[in-house]
Amino acid sequence: MGVQRRNTRQRALVLDAVRAHDDHPTADDIYLDVRQQDEKISRGTVYRNLNLLEEAGIISSVKTPGGNRFDWRSDGHAHILCRKCGRVQDVPLAYDLDLDEACGAQTGFAGIDHSTLFTGICPDCLGDSPVADTALEDRQAD
Ligand SMILES: [Zn+2]
Ligand SMILES: [Zn+2]
Repeated sequence: MGVQRRNTRQRALVLDAVRAHDDHPTADDIYLDVRQQDEKISRGTVYRNLNLLEEAGIISSVKTPGGNRFDWRSDGHAHILCRKCGRVQDVPLAYDLDLDEACGAQTGFAGIDHSTLFTGICPDCLGDSPVADTALEDRQAD
């Protein structure tokens, strides 16, 4: 198999793995999934393909304090991160163009966009009380 064809195949495997997730996987999650299809693929190859796919606008990523999380969606939607378990999920809020316009008017910048990452404690984590108090203590310890 030629280099070109192998590259194309590896990229397709990485893209399929991202599309199989609705939970905003880490690069490592994708690596582990792709390894099941191709045990010879290296971590570097998977990471490189994730970056290429993102640069091409085919997938996107969410920057969180714990690292990049990948997303098969590339439209500018909002996310919420659970501060306890690290879960990242989509928030069905419309992208706010007015915010970009207001920002442009204040700063003189052009070509503005923004990404929104809310943080909080997810319903599952709230289930095991007293999580809200624990989260507060963690913060004060920082
Ligand atoms: Zn949680
Ligand atoms: Zn998303």
